[in-house]
Amino acid sequence: MKTPTRPLIAGNWKMNGSRAFAKDMAEALVNRLSEREEVGFEMLLCPPAPLIDVVRESVGASGIVIGGQDCHAAKQGAHTGDIAAVMLADAGCNYVIVGHSERRGDYGEVDAVVRDKAAAVQMAGLIPLVCVGETVEQREAGEAVEIVTKQVEGSIPNGSSASTVIVAYEPVWAIGTGRSATVKDIAEIHNSIRTVLSKIVVDGESVRILYGGSVKPDNAAAILSVDNVNGALVGGASLNAHEFFSIAEAAPS
Ligand code: PEP
Repeated sequence: MKTPTRPLIAGNWKMNGSRAFAKDMAEALVNRLSEREEVGFEMLLCPPAPLIDVVRESVGASGIVIGGQDCHAAKQGAHTGDIAAVMLADAGCNYVIVGHSERRGDYGEVDAVVRDKAAAVQMAGLIPLVCVGETVEQREAGEAVEIVTKQVEGSIPNGSSASTVIVAYEPVWAIGTGRSATVKDIAEIHNSIRTVLSKIVVDGESVRILYGGSVKPDNAAAILSVDNVNGALVGGASLNAHEFFSIAEAAPS
């Protein structure tokens, strides 16, 4: 089943870039966008926090939206180095990635922490992209569906709806490795995520589910055509304007 909304093509720059890079990238994407008569996708850029303002200025009124890569669950307070969701809203973001496997791995963020962050994002009026995904060991043990199901159940705030949450399935073994999941694997997991969402979210059949993990221009069309794939979360290839835009153009409209 496909959601009625356009596919979301999100770029996660991770800890990469400079102000000059951000300006060049954003301007290149805006130019490519302006050459098209119809745009069948939504484009989201998630730069490192210090680059949000330059990206915001460079994308202007192009329709490209901006997201943070993480936030703290609290609104404010003594949390040195952290950023509150309300601050990302104030900076011009519409979305925030939470629960990326690099955060789960590097900082031990468990589902309850991810859920609290996602709730803070919603409270700030933004939309969380809640990342889930199994490790290679879990996949080889045949536990992928079970692990991802538990992550979805544990990481999505109560009361979420299709307009307030997005799920991103990112198998950990496919992130930054050049090894993407097969369309069969993606279909299986996205179908199981849809089933869980239909149980725990009021309009779960319409929640966007993105795939992430070594999405490139040459595999994007196949991945984006899989049932229940409603967009892509792109890491490495989002650092190259031509590659990122080619991925977006591969999205079925
Ligand atoms: C990511 O970090 O979210 C990601 C999907 O990375 P890559 O596209 O480089 O695998």
